[in-house]
Amino acid sequence: DLFGTERVNSRGVDLADPEELAPLGREMDRAAAQRWEAAPIVGGQARRRGTPTEIVDPADRRRVVGEAHWAGPDDVDAALARATRAHPDWARTPVEARAAALERAADELEQRFGEFMGLTVREGGKTVPDAVAEVREAIDFLRYYAVDARRKFAEPIRMPGPTGERNELYLHGRGVFATISPWNQLLALFTGPASAALAAGNCVVAKPAEQTPLMAAAMTRVLHRAGIPEDVFHVLPGDGPSVGEPLLKDPRVAGVAFTGGVDTAKRINRVLAERDGPIIPFIAETGGLNAMIMDSTALPEQAVMDIVQSAFMSAGQRCSALRVLFVQDDIGDRVTRMLTGAMDELRLGDPGELRTDIGPVISPDAKEMLDGHARAMERNAKLLRRAPLDGAGEHGNFVAPAAFEIEGMNALQGEVFGPMLHVVRYDKRRLDEVIDAINATGYGLTHGIHTRIDNTVDYVADRVKAGNTYVNRNMVGSVVGVQPFGGEGLSGTGPKAGGPHYLYRFATERTLTIDT
Ligand code: NAP
Repeated sequence: DLFGTERVNSRGVDLADPEELAPLGREMDRAAAQRWEAAPIVGGQARRRGTPTEIVDPADRRRVVGEAHWAGPDDVDAALARATRAHPDWARTPVEARAAALERAADELEQRFGEFMGLTVREGGKTVPDAVAEVREAIDFLRYYAVDARRKFAEPIRMPGPTGERNELYLHGRGVFATISPWNQLLALFTGPASAALAAGNCVVAKPAEQTPLMAAAMTRVLHRAGIPEDVFHVLPGDGPSVGEPLLKDPRVAGVAFTGGVDTAKRINRVLAERDGPIIPFIAETGGLNAMIMDSTALPEQAVMDIVQSAFMSAGQRCSALRVLFVQDDIGDRVTRMLTGAMDELRLGDPGELRTDIGPVISPDAKEMLDGHARAMERNAKLLRRAPLDGAGEHGNFVAPAAFEIEGMNALQGEVFGPMLHVVRYDKRRLDEVIDAINATGYGLTHGIHTRIDNTVDYVADRVKAGNTYVNRNMVGSVVGVQPFGGEGLSGTGPKAGGPHYLYRFATERTLTIDT
């Protein structure tokens, strides 16, 4: 089916069904017991050297999940040399073969679902439901871009022309793409941009986040086994300044797909502007200072559930997470009472346990930054609640979810990447000022609206600059092919991931004119 109508997103897991859960649980345990390894994988060969770094479980730093060998300058050079050589053949490989390889990779993830969930939990500190979502999203990206590539790359577009002249417009892979990914969606956002680049006929040199190299190495093996040639896809674990930047500076890189913070995106923009070589596309998906507007017609019980989920699940480490709740002042007391009550029920702890709502944050540095933010807010704003830390082990990077009441957006400098919610009360006659304040941040990723007035939905959605707006529901967890995802302004360049325009940015267009 060329048009993707028969593609279905991956199946969820019914976590309440013991029969479904038991085999997954066993696979997760096996994944947790295993010692994983990461190394630069260039031309299919793991290039180990020196003493590796231990990668520890964010929920219990005494637990070693695996070890990583970091890439050096010669790995960067070798990966680019092989990928550059491999590109002409790969770009000429029929799109069907490229797409089928990506679909086989999706099949392997589906077969090893529990194992990849287990690694998501242990390396990324993500809860079981988050891990389900993580593996599903990776599978969905692989299949979505495979199907979409068939649709876009199989045949050229015939353009009109005078009699005796044939004009055709082709899409063609650009060359070697560098994909740079964050730790917070260690599997899905490593796999998504890379699979798009591959589907479009590019070779890929992937630089995963320093915190999550094990998943990247495991996924690299999946892609190779599925039939992505070893010289077409390489992975270089290491940090941004010592591996990412030398990679981007190299004129052999023909495109960059980055997901991470806005400051890093700006830095990369500067690096690309100053390097030798061609001018190239830079796709950046960055953070947000995401808000929700809740008026007095909202259903408070539902809204509070959605607020808690949007602000605190995944320990607030989602780019789409809710950071600032604007609540109409008439219902302010009631909503904050319900919100703080719900926060008291949140259970922090080992993300591998089903009863855990909130796992750790990724690193001791992240914990320190977030606890510092909470202390500053306690001094300068009104603390509504810090959720109890019971159940969270002292050896993990646990941060108590917190809610503060602030006067306005000015109290925040930028994205706070963790379980911190800020509440602002507004007067309904001043809705325009709320919208202006949200837009003045310059970010534009997600936005939430809770109201039962249709006109308010239209009015706000028309005016707030945000890539993804959610009405009367939570504002996290976009679904591939259903809610194409990505922001504007400081939040990203587009195009939207998991949407029908994404692949175009990974391709160059060529027109062939033949006098017949
Ligand atoms: P980050 O610090 O910006 O890092 C992202 C990636 O860039 C990492 O692989 C990082 O490597 C690398 N990097 C850092 N400096 C670099 C440089 N000078 N040159 C090349 N690469 C460099 O972000 P993060 O902390 O990993 O992720 C959290 C951020 O991602 C948040 O802001 C979140 O909102 C955003 N995010 C956005 C989306 C979206 O779709 N819009 C989705 C998920 C996350 P090292 O970390 O190894 O140094």
